[in-house]
Amino acid sequence: MTFVLAIHGGAGVITTAVQRHGEAAYMAALREALDAGRAVLSSGGDALDAVEAAVRVLEDCELFNAGRGSVFCDDGTHRMEASLQDGRTRHAGAVIGLQTTRHPISGARAVMERSRHVVLADCDAWLREQGLEQKPASWFDTAERYQQLEAAREHDTVRLDHEEAPGGTSSDQSPRTGTVGAVAVDMHGNLAAATSTGGMTNKMAGRVGDTPVIGAGTHACTHCAVSGTGRGEQFLRHAVAGAIGTRVATGASLQAACTELVHHTLSAGDGGVIGVNAAGEIAMPFNTPGMFRGWVREEGEPRVAVWEATTPPPPPPTPPPSTTPPPSTT
Ligand code: ASP
Repeated sequence: MTFVLAIHGGAGVITTAVQRHGEAAYMAALREALDAGRAVLSSGGDALDAVEAAVRVLEDCELFNAGRGSVFCDDGTHRMEASLQDGRTRHAGAVIGLQTTRHPISGARAVMERSRHVVLADCDAWLREQGLEQKPASWFDTAERYQQLEAAREHDTVRLDHEEAPGGTSSDQSPRTGTVGAVAVDMHGNLAAATSTGGMTNKMAGRVGDTPVIGAGTHACTHCAVSGTGRGEQFLRHAVAGAIGTRVATGASLQAACTELVHHTLSAGDGGVIGVNAAGEIAMPFNTPGMFRGWVREEGEPRVAVWEATTPPPPPPTPPPSTTPPPSTT
């Protein structure tokens, strides 16, 4: 068994973001996240540790809408959300409404491993007690996200941070980058998924999107692991990540299941998903102009992509069993 890791940094109309920061900056950040996850997997580590490690890198990068660089709510605060799931046990953890925890994805893991619950809201104080690093709420601010909030307020809209202004133009000239996620299968065949976000610009402060909802934005089982990005209300309505898991568990190919949900269940412009299955196949469909994404296999170089819906190649065939008799032990 070899390992596979796939990541995303949001889907949407991301032209302005790429023009503003340069494609190279996104590529470098995605590679850094792949490297972090790969380091875990190549040393025989667990898929859950790998997806957490990859997402933590993306949470620290201001280009993405998670952790530092999260978008603003309508009241001028950040309310971060994250979830992860271990496919082997179906154990899961999720956090909602975080304002000071540096790594919301590690907050989700703490909920999974150290509480009796799956989802905790407004739990920065508990996470601080658990030893998770806290930052002042203003540490998560960026000037560009504030400009996005002002533009959204002006037009009275709630937007993906990578969505164009009304009329199809980028009138606020703000970068539009997104939610982050990772899925992996490790050398032992275990699957895991993780997703982290600041949500949508100008959302109501109590709004909950798909990202912290297991089965909507995140899913992992013994068949596949899935992380989504896009219009959270749509992912919630269609329980997208879990629906993919159900299809794969009942015999659909990973590619067919992801394609059906993204291109036939969701509407154009809603977003995309990344998925891996237990056989090491990867699917990354999206119905937006672009999706920041990357993947790495044990035997290959890390790959990153933004625009065209390239399909990562299937895993190499498993070598046939050796016909040479095992050496005699006597
Ligand atoms: N799905 C996220 C939400 O609705 C946003 C995103 O993926 O960019 O909160």
